This record gives sequence, structure tokens and C-alpha cells, in this order.
Amino acid sequence: MSRYRLQPSPAQEQVLLEHCGHARYVWNLAVEQHSHWKPGRRNAPGFAEQCRQLTAARADNAWLRAGSVVVQQQALKDFAQAMANFSGKTHKRPAWRRRGRGEGFRIVAVKAGDVRRLSRHVGEVRIPKVGWVRLRWSRAVPEGVKSYRVTRDAAGRWHVAFAAIPEPVPAPGTGEVAGVDRGVAVSAALSTGELLNAPGLRDGEKARLLRLLRRLARAERGSSRRGRVKAAIAKVRAREADRRKDWVEKTSTGLARRFDVIAVEDLKISNMTRSARGTLEAPGRNVRQKAGLNRGILAAGWGRLVERLEHKAPGRVRKINPRYTSQTCNACGHRAAESRESQSRFRCVACGHQAHADVNAAENLRDTAAGHAVAARGGLPLGGPVNREPQRDLLLVG
Ligand SMILES: [Zn+2]
Repeated sequence: MSRYRLQPSPAQEQVLLEHCGHARYVWNLAVEQHSHWKPGRRNAPGFAEQCRQLTAARADNAWLRAGSVVVQQQALKDFAQAMANFSGKTHKRPAWRRRGRGEGFRIVAVKAGDVRRLSRHVGEVRIPKVGWVRLRWSRAVPEGVKSYRVTRDAAGRWHVAFAAIPEPVPAPGTGEVAGVDRGVAVSAALSTGELLNAPGLRDGEKARLLRLLRRLARAERGSSRRGRVKAAIAKVRAREADRRKDWVEKTSTGLARRFDVIAVEDLKISNMTRSARGTLEAPGRNVRQKAGLNRGILAAGWGRLVERLEHKAPGRVRKINPRYTSQTCNACGHRAAESRESQSRFRCVACGHQAHADVNAAENLRDTAAGHAVAARGGLPLGGPVNREPQRDLLLVG
């Protein structure tokens, strides 16, 4: 996703807001229809039936009819996809959307001429029923844009994000394998010893955010002051998110360019995120501990990094079962939880090998992907339980 600031005129903004409202309305209708549905049951209306209902609703409601059918149908399609993800147990149940929170709509079947550059820093995109809307050409728009999503953030800024699978980055052809560990102490650790940190807020910005949060706590509900403080907070958070996204793009391109094979741990990140919170009936175990870890994962944008790596280095990313990678000594293969002295220190209780804990784990990922796991040196197989499993189970979960 490459995201650009949209600069609609006030008149265009009105239509954009209507698009958002229609998309939200249609989405919420679908949510309501499906609110009693559970995986396995087959009685909620499907996409085709919902499209017929949309046609009927448009016939009955002039305000809905005045809007873009493309926008409204796409909202149904997005909902169908969200339901499929939900029943596939990879995502949460699609939720009700509120005005002013994560507003947006999606346009697909974008043609080559629908995005164009006007001058060095200015471009425009064609949006149904809105026409050409200016955008800040902050970087090259990727080739082969297939769809885009227009969003309005809590600070009231409009953005357009073009979805195009990025061009694969050519492999260097050196045969080099890198392990990349989602660090606890750092954002990512490479088997080369490099420690990468996703940028966050600067000290001054952190202090400002704290001040704003305190002010928000004191502001009266519904007051205009509260609204202003909220907008200011959203602005700071948006800046942080922008920086992280930028970091993910640069880091994924760099890794794809430098290494032939990139080994990452297979975290099944969304499952972990969900299981920590648990359900009402069965609250997750170690909730507090896991919640902290999840925050760290999400903050580092790990899922996004892996996704972008897979786009930029197709077929060159190996997802490795991460079991024991953080407890196993890369030098001698001895596995012991006590070897991980702290979040950042690893000291093997068997051979005394010392390393940054995340780098040691990254080296284990690299070696497992390269097929000469620590097991080859007589230790326990990585990623497997204490009882040995066939070699193929050690590798490539994804
Ligand atoms: Zn050792």
C-alpha cells in the first residue's frame, strides 16, 4: 500500500463524506443481518442476495440512490470478504462502523488513466461521482494500480492508498540466507547481527502526547475543547504510524535486495493477538503478559513487514516454526530456557556462548531455513518437540 495525502476541494469533500456514509450504512446493514450468524450455519444472506437487497433499498431511498452504486456494492464485497476471513478464523468478526472512526471506501477495477501526475509534487486520481481529486505526489505511484481505498483519519485528513503488488526486487544471487527475528528488545534482529528499530515518536513528541492525554482526561465530554484535543492526539499518532509504514517499506526492500532467502518466524500473528484477549467465557491465559507482547508485535508492524517481504521477494521468504528458536544456542544446539538470561541477553548454560538474544534467534531461523539446522551439529532439532520429529516438520510451516 502506498498512501498519499488527498487534497479535495470543499465541494469534493462533501461527496467524499457521502461516499463514506453510504459505505458505512451498507456495511452496518450487512453486519446487522449477520449478527446472529455463527460459523457453520448457513442462513445469512450471501453477497448476491445482499446485492439484490441493495438494489431494492436504492429504489426506495433517494439519498442512497443518489450515491455511487460502485461504492455501495464494494462495501458489500468487502463485507463478504471480512465474513470469509472470520469463518476462516483468521480475522475477527466484522464490526459495526461508527461515524468519524476509520471512515473510508474502496474503489476497484481502476484503469491505467485514473491516476495521473500533473507536476512534480501534484497528481490526481479519478473518483466516481467526485471527479479528479488532487493528491500530493510524495513518491512514485506504483505501476499497475488495481484498486484504491480513500480514508479520512480522526484528524480529518484524507488519504488515498493504492493497492498494487509491488514489483519483485531481484535477488542478489549470492545464495545468502538471512534470519530475521521479531525482537522483544528491538523491532527486528538480523542473523548478521544488525538490530533494527522501527522509529517511534521523538522525545519531544512523546512529551507532547502525554500532555495531550492528560488534557483529554480533564476535558469535559462533548466539549469542543475535547474535540480539539482528540484531533491533536490523532495527528501525533498518525505521524508515528506514517513513520512505521515508511520503515517497513525501506526495510523490506533492503532485505529483499540483500539476501536470496529470508527466514522469518511464523507467528500467525492475528491468532496470537486474539488468543491473548480470549473470550468472555474463557479469558486468555497470562493475559497481561501476552497483551504486553502483542502490543510490541503490533507496534513493530511485524505482520506488515512479512507481508511486504513476501511481495518484494516472492518465493524467497521462509516461514519457520519459531518454537525454541529463542531458547536454543546457535553455537552448540543446546536448548534451555535458562539460557535466555533476559529479553536481550542469551548465554548458553552448556557452552557459555553469549549473544544478543534476538540475534541468536535470528541465526537459528537462518540455519533452519538453510537446511543445516543445529540438529546437524548434534543438538536437538529446532522447532521440534523434545521427541524428535521427521526433518520436514522442522521446516517451512508456511
Ligand atoms: Zn551453547
